[in-house]
Amino acid sequence: MTYLTSIGLEVHVQLHTRSKMFCGCAVEFGAPPNSLTCPTCLGLPGALPVINHEALRLTALTGLMLGCEIAPRCKFDRKNYFYPDMPKNYQISQYDQPLCQGGRMPLVDSSVALVRIHLEEDVAKSFHFESNTGIDFNRAGTPLMEIVTEPVIASPEETFRFLTALKQILIYGGVSDADMEKGQLRCDCNVSIRPEGQAELGAKIEIKNMNSISGVRRALAYEVARQTEALARGEALEQETRGWDDDAGRTFLMRRKEMAHDYRYFPEPDLQPVDTATLVEEMRARVPELPEAKRRRFEADYGVSAYDAAVLAADLELARYFEAAAQNKTRPKAIANWILNDLQSALTNTGLAITNCPIPPRALEELAELIESGKISGKQGKEVFAEMFASGRTAGEIVREKGMEQLSDTGAIEALCDQVIAAHPKPAADFRAGNLASINFLKGQVMKLSQGRANPALVGEILERKLS
Ligand code: ADP
Ligand code: MG
Ligand code: ZN
Repeated sequence: MTYLTSIGLEVHVQLHTRSKMFCGCAVEFGAPPNSLTCPTCLGLPGALPVINHEALRLTALTGLMLGCEIAPRCKFDRKNYFYPDMPKNYQISQYDQPLCQGGRMPLVDSSVALVRIHLEEDVAKSFHFESNTGIDFNRAGTPLMEIVTEPVIASPEETFRFLTALKQILIYGGVSDADMEKGQLRCDCNVSIRPEGQAELGAKIEIKNMNSISGVRRALAYEVARQTEALARGEALEQETRGWDDDAGRTFLMRRKEMAHDYRYFPEPDLQPVDTATLVEEMRARVPELPEAKRRRFEADYGVSAYDAAVLAADLELARYFEAAAQNKTRPKAIANWILNDLQSALTNTGLAITNCPIPPRALEELAELIESGKISGKQGKEVFAEMFASGRTAGEIVREKGMEQLSDTGAIEALCDQVIAAHPKPAADFRAGNLASINFLKGQVMKLSQGRANPALVGEILERKLS
């Protein structure tokens, strides 16, 4: 029996705004607990919300990047429930009129249909201590965008690719820093399996509060195997909510088929709906080139390999650096190589971000040009690169100071060759007698005499000519 997997995600994204969704408190990670609060985000009676328009803009921009339809009017609703991290007993969210509907995330050889994107406020965060619980309201009221996909993702691997691509797009649009470690990107994963040939989906199992993309992939792989084995044993699966224990590498039951929550949604009476036409037009002009398009353009315009183009385009800042260095199209492939190998490992080793790279993009272009045009050797290039990275000086300066420029003056090299042949008659005679390998010794001597500066190809040519 073959089973098919269906996965649908509910992804929560913390928006990159300076202030909260309905008050002026700052959005800041790592501030002392409860230092970023006011009567509104504490949910005190009588405090009134005011809409943060930047959050509307960023949500609309996300919708435009993902091909959604944007609602002409943005309306908020109250979702009523009781929980200690939400003392006003309702969350302001969007129910029947989400800001964005439909849309689709393109992946390399598939795409994932979206149901909706809506905007809401985050709740506070509970910290469980040994004998009591503390609540930090710094997170309460921060703008949270929820992206819901159709249950059309076919595997844990495709889920991984979807989340990776989504994260890139959010960063490209400046919508969110999407740092999962800081809780800026969290997701609930719904997964079911069904026998091939069965039209209706299997029982939905929801894995709550995933906070790493690779954790999502592992948790889903575990669930697919667990559910497949259960069905194969003839057990029936029921809708349930599970958690993920990353250390143990397994999911665990949290609750069975809860009664459908009755959230008693109704329109938020303290907020007027907002017309979105102007804001949507403004955002349309801000839709950036997306990673997938950039990847294809890097390949076509600069002739870099598909792999290099994908790695460069995956990181907006890396892509910007590459483009600044390669814009003259002198040595784009060599530049891509330097960035993806030496530059990235130097940055990793020093803990620097590409935005703080000591080598400006145009300086890397100069280095590539010096090597590719044969002015310095590849080996010297590595030395120059290390010096550039350490000192921030240009390749030209370093090459001049170290007298590295390769000797390509034929006359000068001829003189060195004559000198070496005269000093080493034995290997010269061996070469003439047919031992072709003995030329390597002579070459080495010429290189040494030139202090490594002679153009090696030229040395080989001249020696051969002189010994034939
Ligand atoms: P609810 O209203 O209970 O939140 P929805 O139908 O709105 O459920 O779906 C929530 C998420 O679960 C969506 O991402 C959707 O794609 C996904 N989903 C729904 N049914 C299934 C299923 N049978 N298998 C896998 N995912 C599902
Ligand atoms: Mg749900
Ligand atoms: Zn506040």
